Amino acid sequence: ATILAIESSCDETSAAICIDGIMRSNIIATQAVHQKYGGVVPELASRAHQQNIIPVVQEAVAAAKINKKDIDAVAFTRGPGLLGSLLVGTSFAKAFALANDIPLVEVNHMQAHVLAHFIDDPKPAFPFLCLTVSGGHTQIVLVRDFFNMEIVGETNDDAAGEAFDKTAKILGLPYPGGPLIDKYAREGNPLAFPFPEPQIPGLDFSFSGLKTSILYFVRDRLKADPDFLKNNMNDVCASVQYRIITILINKLRKAAKQYGINDIAIAGGVSANSGLRAMMQEAAEKYNWSVFIPAFQYCTDNAAMIAIAGYYKYMNKDFASQDIAPLARMNF
Ligand code: ATP
Ligand code: MG
Ligand code: FE
Repeated sequence: ATILAIESSCDETSAAICIDGIMRSNIIATQAVHQKYGGVVPELASRAHQQNIIPVVQEAVAAAKINKKDIDAVAFTRGPGLLGSLLVGTSFAKAFALANDIPLVEVNHMQAHVLAHFIDDPKPAFPFLCLTVSGGHTQIVLVRDFFNMEIVGETNDDAAGEAFDKTAKILGLPYPGGPLIDKYAREGNPLAFPFPEPQIPGLDFSFSGLKTSILYFVRDRLKADPDFLKNNMNDVCASVQYRIITILINKLRKAAKQYGINDIAIAGGVSANSGLRAMMQEAAEKYNWSVFIPAFQYCTDNAAMIAIAGYYKYMNKDFASQDIAPLARMNF
């Protein structure tokens, strides 16, 4: 089966083609318009999706070397995400399905982040635990089957990606700051400035206290030395990144013990972080885990993950009807 997939939940317009579960193309148009605002502006995101969607789909079809009439189904992100952004992808998918008389398949964006692990080998075996860390979510997911997933831990406030992005803002770095903190952290000492680890019960997370302590720390240091950030950017980034990552890994250890599961995956935009990837590899040796880390292009938002999720739903004949509407908030 040939699946066309559309992702438009936030600020990436993406289209992918997958044939019998093999990815043939994955085109991602990132919207630069938000940079000068220091965050995604929903109204501008919707307009950019509207401009990008047709060219991105055409590029995905061309790159896959197929014909539009070869497509057997169209999968799209129904939610969660920005409603105006989701509406663009949803409307396109519906129109395409209707015009070509093919089935429509709805996909949950957060399930798709997890299912990105089924694009390439090695693929995890069920059940496994997946830490999904992105711009809007921080979840530990117990994955029993493709569409049988349970969130066993999540954040009470900010997401891990938000912690990266808000810290970057405090440090005067442009949006999205996660990748920049990663870059500076590589040259810094992670133990230079110890930030406190929050004590949150169970498998849940909290990052807002950390954000506040970083804010006060930077404010106090700058008062004493106006050049503090200029001279210590690498160490500050390395220390913040180290704390965020250790919070994540410590909760994963707790989850692994609690469920007796040693197959551990990471997913979502923050799984692109080089420090987290390295610490997961260390954890694999230390705790005897089988660790699954997605290829970079499948960490941040992309339509390939929607395509693979859509493919498994298509095989189950799990189709959506033409009156389906996107959802800003959406459970599994
Ligand atoms: P959600 O999936 O929760 O709806 P989203 O789709 O906006 O949110 P993603 O695109 O999956 O999120 O991830 C974006 C986030 O990942 C941003 O917060 C960004 O800063 C972060 N990120 C990307 N690369 C890195 C990196 N190398 N290090 C740290 N954070 C990163
Ligand atoms: Mg994005
Ligand atoms: Fe995402």
